[in-house]
Amino acid sequence: MATTPRDNVLDWLRDAHGMEQQAESMLTAQAERLENYPDLRARIQQHIEETRWQQQQLEACISRLGGSTSTVKDLTGKLMAFGQGIVGMTMTDEVVKGALSGYVFENMEIASYTILIAAAEAVGDTATRDTCAAILNQEVAMARWLLEHLGPVTETFLLRDQTPGVQAKR
Ligand code: MG
Ligand code: FE
Repeated sequence: MATTPRDNVLDWLRDAHGMEQQAESMLTAQAERLENYPDLRARIQQHIEETRWQQQQLEACISRLGGSTSTVKDLTGKLMAFGQGIVGMTMTDEVVKGALSGYVFENMEIASYTILIAAAEAVGDTATRDTCAAILNQEVAMARWLLEHLGPVTETFLLRDQTPGVQAKR
């Protein structure tokens, strides 16, 4: 049976919604643990707010197209994020690995919304296209911020890590 472009748009919107649930869990775990990196923590907290807004926007697109959000995918995403959080806690360079995975995740989001914009454009769904374009802007800004701060975060980590009695990892 053939899949219509509209079905694909709806599927990908659901995937994006699951991805944003995973993002919220991951970012929340990171922000809660960070103690000595206030700039990174503040930027992550800002992006948690943006991520919640993105979820609402995606839900609006999904219900406009007559679908519902997949609780199974959402749950899987949350469990994966929980697992990643546990793994992160055992790392001595947690903040560096967290910033690295954050940057990778943002780029996955950038690719996902670029795909959704093209698909929405192809089916003439301008509302979904515009929503995804607005979300994409936030992901690009977050990816750019992380890229700019990977160096400074690493420098701070190295400095703290070689100082006796000072916690570096978070
Ligand atoms: Mg996002
Ligand atoms: Fe993001």
